[in-house]
Amino acid sequence: MQHYDVIVAGGGTAGFAAAVTAARAGKKTLILEEKAYLGGTATGAQISMFMGFAQGEAQAPLKGIVRDVLDRLTAEGGTSGIQTIYLSGQKELDVDVIPYESDILKSVLDGLVCEAGVDVLFHTRVIGVEMDGKRIAGLKIHNEEGVQTVAGDVIIDATFHGSVAVESGCAWEAGDENGVLQPGTLMYKIAGVDQERYAQVTQKEKEELAAKGIAQGCLYVNNLLARPLPNGVLYSNMSRVKVNPMDSFGWSRAEMEGREQVRKISRFFIENVPGFEHAYVVSTGDFTGLRDSRRILGQYKLTNEDVLEGRPFEDAVAQSSYPIDIHDTDGVSSRVMKPRNGVFYIPYRCQITQVSNLILAGRCISAAYEAHACIRVMITCMRLGESAGLAAAESLNRGCAANELDGRILKEKLLG
Ligand SMILES: Cc1cc2nc3c(=O)[nH]c(=O)nc-3n(C[C@H](O)[C@H](O)[C@H](O)COP(=O)(O)OP(=O)(O)OC[C@H]3O[C@@H](n4cnc5c(N)ncnc54)[C@H](O)[C@@H]3O)c2cc1C
Repeated sequence: MQHYDVIVAGGGTAGFAAAVTAARAGKKTLILEEKAYLGGTATGAQISMFMGFAQGEAQAPLKGIVRDVLDRLTAEGGTSGIQTIYLSGQKELDVDVIPYESDILKSVLDGLVCEAGVDVLFHTRVIGVEMDGKRIAGLKIHNEEGVQTVAGDVIIDATFHGSVAVESGCAWEAGDENGVLQPGTLMYKIAGVDQERYAQVTQKEKEELAAKGIAQGCLYVNNLLARPLPNGVLYSNMSRVKVNPMDSFGWSRAEMEGREQVRKISRFFIENVPGFEHAYVVSTGDFTGLRDSRRILGQYKLTNEDVLEGRPFEDAVAQSSYPIDIHDTDGVSSRVMKPRNGVFYIPYRCQITQVSNLILAGRCISAAYEAHACIRVMITCMRLGESAGLAAAESLNRGCAANELDGRILKEKLLG
């Protein structure tokens, strides 16, 4: 294997953004992805709606990687643009979002990494690290060619689970104070819906239908969550499974449980919800979408108060207004807390650890349980990827370790 300036482990929203940013900055970049496509949870789990804008941002011209994704999705018919939705149907919980078609997003991401000149290795899993003191000397990978080692100057861990960080000795946390994780969801898409009829169902009626479905053991959340995509298909976020990815047998059972729930939910909709009489399921996610896994302990742990108070940081690399949004462990409802000043910031120190050439990107960064529940959305993950890619390039240009880079340089370029 060749030597790379930057290696990105995991090609989700954070990983692809990190790789594109590093390559655009002139760095020889490799992305390693165990699946056959980029996007991770965004595409594979069919999440279908980007969230995480900072207040007022959606009305202003966007910049950076989010702009590139939005422009290309629009050009390919994969989105009808930015919309405002209301969490739990509540007017005060308005959130700007970009709904997208997940198969079109896969092609958009292919185009962006290829144009940036990133080397892409699909069907390749990172299985370990070779350490040289506090530095990762190489990543052990496995694919059909066998086990190999690939070396890079800077390693970005965008694996969702923080797998590279764990292998290199970083400490981590998972779940709430009892170690309980938020539930996962197998998303599905449904066609043949009379959307005019469905649009007439009031929020009160939705909640009544949801209560009926829960009582019958066919529904798992206290609302009807089915939203349209540009192609007229609806996507639904209604299954809730208890899942812990650090328990592989349990995770396997959860995948089957998700499919069983989707079967019951879709039947309930067809039999009970106006507009769904002739509907049919066209696809389910390739895997159950996980809301939770490890949170790596970095040089700084973002706290709940940092989010709720909107505390500024000299090394802030991303901002967002997405509220703390914790799905109850029983899955039925959510606990939502808005940042009091409308916006919160994430410092670069949440992306670095004691490992000198490692940068964290995406969901696995260093954050407390509740704070994590608002940084995990995909616009934020993309921006954390962008920050990681830029930090990798800047540290190489300046000849310093990634975990010693002055985050103020990043703030200036990303938020300045
Ligand atoms: C049900 C559900 C609903 C959600 N709703 C929304 C929403 O409406 N809007 C929103 O913005 N966010 C939402 N989220 C959150 C969001 O989708 C995720 O937190 C986000 O996509 C995580 O991005 P990531 O890049 O950190 O990880 P991922 O997108 O999961 O990417 C990680 C990638 O790494 C790869 N990988 C993992 N381990 C290895 C390895 N060892 N070797 C090689 N590759 C590896 C994986 O295959 C994957 O491609 C939702 C999440 C869930 C589960």
